[in-house]
Amino acid sequence: MSLIVQKFGGSSVANADRIKNVASRVARYYEEGHSLVVVVSALGDTTDELVDLSGQITKNPSRREMDMLLSTGEQISVALLAMALHELKCGAISFTGAQVGIRTDSSFTKARIVDISTDRIRKELKANKVVIVAGFQGTSSDHEITTLGRGGSDLTAVALAKALDADACEIYTDVEGIYTTDPRLVKDARKIARISYEEMLELASSGAQVMQSRSIEVAGKFDIPIHVRSSFSLNQGTWIVKEDKSMEDVLIRGVSLSKNEAKLTLSGVPNRPGVAAKIFKTLADAGINVDMIIQNIGKSTDTDISFTVPRSDAESAVQALKKIAHETGFKGISQDPNIAKVSVVGIGMRSHTGVAAAMFEILAKHKINIEMISTSEIKISCVVKKKDAEKAVKALHDGFKLSGKK
Ligand code: ADP
Ligand code: ASP
Ligand code: MG
Repeated sequence: MSLIVQKFGGSSVANADRIKNVASRVARYYEEGHSLVVVVSALGDTTDELVDLSGQITKNPSRREMDMLLSTGEQISVALLAMALHELKCGAISFTGAQVGIRTDSSFTKARIVDISTDRIRKELKANKVVIVAGFQGTSSDHEITTLGRGGSDLTAVALAKALDADACEIYTDVEGIYTTDPRLVKDARKIARISYEEMLELASSGAQVMQSRSIEVAGKFDIPIHVRSSFSLNQGTWIVKEDKSMEDVLIRGVSLSKNEAKLTLSGVPNRPGVAAKIFKTLADAGINVDMIIQNIGKSTDTDISFTVPRSDAESAVQALKKIAHETGFKGISQDPNIAKVSVVGIGMRSHTGVAAAMFEILAKHKINIEMISTSEIKISCVVKKKDAEKAVKALHDGFKLSGKK
C-alpha cells in the first residue's frame, strides 16, 4: 500500500461540515490500507481575518509576532480534523510544524524549509495513525515559530512528500484542478489535464493563487508529481509534472492576473552610472522584491524610472527611497496602486514567434492601454489599469482560444 500526502486548503475545511467531509475522504483512503499524512490550512478566511485584526492594532506589526499570530489558524484545523477522524473510528493524531520537526530559516513571514526530521511522523504511521500536520509553519533553529509565506501549506505538503519519499502528493482545493485561467473569473475556462512545473511556476508567480509558487519550485527541483483536485468530487484533477515533448504543441497554457502590485515612479533621476544600482540595492536591502522595471530615455540629464513592487511593500519602498533622495538626486516619487498585471504563459512560446504581438493586438482591440511590459522565455506580462484587469483576462483567454467552448 502506498504513502500519500494529502493537503486540504482553507475552503475545504471552512466549517464543521466541510471538516467532516474531509475526514470521510481521508478515512476512505485509510480503510483501503494507505498510509496518510494530511496537511491542512486554517479554516476558511481565518488567516486573512488575523491579518486584518493585527492591522486594527498596528500598521507596522513585528514580523515575529505576525508569525506567532498567523500560525494559530492551522493549529485549530489540525485538532478539529483529528477529532472528526476519531468520530469515524479512524486512528489519527495532529501535530504543529514544530512537533514534526519542520525546521526553517528565521526569515519570519517567508521562511524557507531547511530540514524535516521525519522520525515522529514515521513512528505514528507505523502505529497505524493518520498523521495530520499543520500547514504553513515551522520553527527556526532558535525555536521561533515561523510561517512559509501566504499559501504556504502547499509547500508543507510538497516538502513532506519529498522528505517521506511519498508515493503521491495530492492538493485538494475548491476547484477541480488547474484551469486555463481563474475559473471564477472566466466561466468557460478549461481544466488542464497536465501542466509542466515551469508553466505552473510562471502562472503561480504571476498571480494564479491556486498553488503557492515556492511549492512548485520545490516540486520541480525534486521532480515530485502533484495532483491538484477538488475536495468536493472524485474527479481527476490536474497533474503538475515534468515537461514532455507533447506539451510544446500548446502555444499558450494559461492566463493569469495579479492585482497585488503597485507601480512606483521616480522622476528626475540623474542619468549617470550608479544611480539605478543605488536605488535597487536600497530596495533589496529592505527585503522588497521588484518585478517590472522601465527606464525612460530622457533627452536631458534626467530620466524617469518606474517599477512594480508587491502592494503591501509599496509604503516601505517609498520610505526607504526617501532616505536616499538626497544622495541619489532624484526629484520626485509617486505611487499608483490602481494597476494590475495580466500574463500569458506557455512553453510553446519557446518555439513560436509572434505571441507578444498577438497579445498587444488583442489588448488594443479591446482599447486596453499597456503601461509596462516584461517577458521571460515562456511568459509575457503587461501592466494595465486595474479597472481593465478582468476585461483583459477575458479578452486574452478568448483571443488565444483557450476556452472550453467547441
Ligand atoms: P486553497 O484554500 O485550497 O488553498 P486557494 O484559494 O489558495 O485555495 O486557491 C484556489 C483558488 O485559486 C480557486 O478558487 C480559484 O479562484 C483560484 N485560481 C486562480 N487561478 C486559477 C487557475 N488557473 N486554475 C484554478 N484556480 C485558479
Ligand atoms: N493559511 C495560510 C494562508 O492563508 C496558508 C495556506 O492557506 O496555505 O496563506
Ligand atoms: Mg492556497
